[in-house]
Amino acid sequence: MIPEAVLVDSALKNIDVRVFGLLACARRKQFATVGERLLASRLGVDRRTVRASITRLTASAHLKLTEPNAPGRRARYELTSPAFAGKASASAPTAPALSQRIRPALKCAKCHAPTRWLAKTGWCRSCMSELKVRRIVRDELRATA
Ligand SMILES: [Zn+2]
Repeated sequence: MIPEAVLVDSALKNIDVRVFGLLACARRKQFATVGERLLASRLGVDRRTVRASITRLTASAHLKLTEPNAPGRRARYELTSPAFAGKASASAPTAPALSQRIRPALKCAKCHAPTRWLAKTGWCRSCMSELKVRRIVRDELRATA
């Protein structure tokens, strides 16, 4: 469902509305966490096209970026239309979302960066993948020695 305010916004291009529509499909309540790459492949456009659309959608306040688009981390968008806001009367469905937001942030034991996921070792995803790469390199060096 796309709000009328988005559909009729003359500052937006058609592709922007399609990007918004996909985000609206993937949203949970008013939030959507979808990578630019996925959006681009689903829409059959370049990633830069998606980024430009998101910039325009953000500039016209249809979207709000709620988490920085750090490398390797998906951006989280807030769909600002009141149509997507959780019902104020129903308190039960909003409770889990709130507890999720106040959930204490995890911290990587190796690089001490805040993260949303930790391996059993207490390391974040990027530290784990670094370790994996190092193992592969070591094994290849051993194989060629
Ligand atoms: Zn780390």
